[in-house]
Amino acid sequence: MVFLSSLIVGVVQLMKVLGRFNRARAARLTLPHFTCQTPLFMPVGTQGTIKGLTTDQLEEIGCQIILGNTYHLELRPGSQLIDDLGGLHKFMNWKRALLTDSGGFQMVSLLHLADITEEGVTFQSPVDGKPMLLTPEESIHIQNNIGADIIMALDDVVKTTITGPRIEEAMYRTLRWIDRCIAAHKKPDVQNLFGIVQGGLDPVLRDICVKGLVERNLPGYAIGGLAGGEDKDSFWRVVAQCTAGLPEDKPRYVMGVGYPLDIVVCSALGADMYDCVYPTRTARFGTALVPEGVLKLKQNAMATDERPIDPTCPCMVCKNYTRAYLHCLVTKDAMGSQLLSYHNLSFMMRLSRDLHMSILEGRFPEFVRGFLRMQVCLVP
Ligand SMILES: [Zn+2]
Repeated sequence: MVFLSSLIVGVVQLMKVLGRFNRARAARLTLPHFTCQTPLFMPVGTQGTIKGLTTDQLEEIGCQIILGNTYHLELRPGSQLIDDLGGLHKFMNWKRALLTDSGGFQMVSLLHLADITEEGVTFQSPVDGKPMLLTPEESIHIQNNIGADIIMALDDVVKTTITGPRIEEAMYRTLRWIDRCIAAHKKPDVQNLFGIVQGGLDPVLRDICVKGLVERNLPGYAIGGLAGGEDKDSFWRVVAQCTAGLPEDKPRYVMGVGYPLDIVVCSALGADMYDCVYPTRTARFGTALVPEGVLKLKQNAMATDERPIDPTCPCMVCKNYTRAYLHCLVTKDAMGSQLLSYHNLSFMMRLSRDLHMSILEGRFPEFVRGFLRMQVCLVP
């Protein structure tokens, strides 16, 4: 009885939609460690850190939730040690929300020798080369140890560019695995388990998966298997179809997305949450995100440019440093990628806030038009 009532509290109170414009929503997401606003961008902190930034700095730029990679955390330092030391929040000194992925995607994408069977994902340990097996039960066990506010079901991931019976097999297996994840989940009162919609680019398979997951009445749902090389029209069509079939009162998370433009479009289609390594990865290559698109700090023209990265950006980097100074640092000194990561994540947080406020204030179409006009006209 205690278990049931706590489960219901976790499910019912998680999301409150505060405003809408057509399909776009601005919502409040009440997670165990922090109350977030959607649309919500999650930076990826592979091993409990966003490279080069302190947790104080992440709070300063308005970061509400960080994604931790279960696969990397299990390899080092190990989920048992994280649990023994009080969970990942305490371990990394992060008081706000956390989400962990299932670990499956990393294995399939990073390890050539990963093999998927009904039991789970078999892979060769990068530490000692021995065969290892990640089952739905093991993924949930590890994520229970890590202690994130949102945990993800283990799914059978296939690239959208693959066609044929493998897509159907993966979708049905994802549905079978969700029941094993639900049964294995030991902390439904403090950790919200999200299911993942698979089905490639096939609308019939996506529909079966959406319906199957919605029947399980999960706290939230993710749209998976996208951002893998499919064309934009197919990508947006799948997002639009899935958001239309998912419950109005539950968060919808588009995994591995994305570029600022993708986030704006997916929010218009009714999605709420996103994660992507792009802002921090591109920072390490010397590229800054600006309203016009991107600014490449390595270019010779930057060497004498006294302006900040983005004169309209209120972040610490834009207040204090010139493009000329950053030009000297980028790709040569760790400080360069730290400062650019700080600015790029500030840009994404500002975009999330702007989306939220424009929906709440009934000026979402104007915001989207303004955003698109800047991006389309001024990108070189
Ligand atoms: Zn800035």
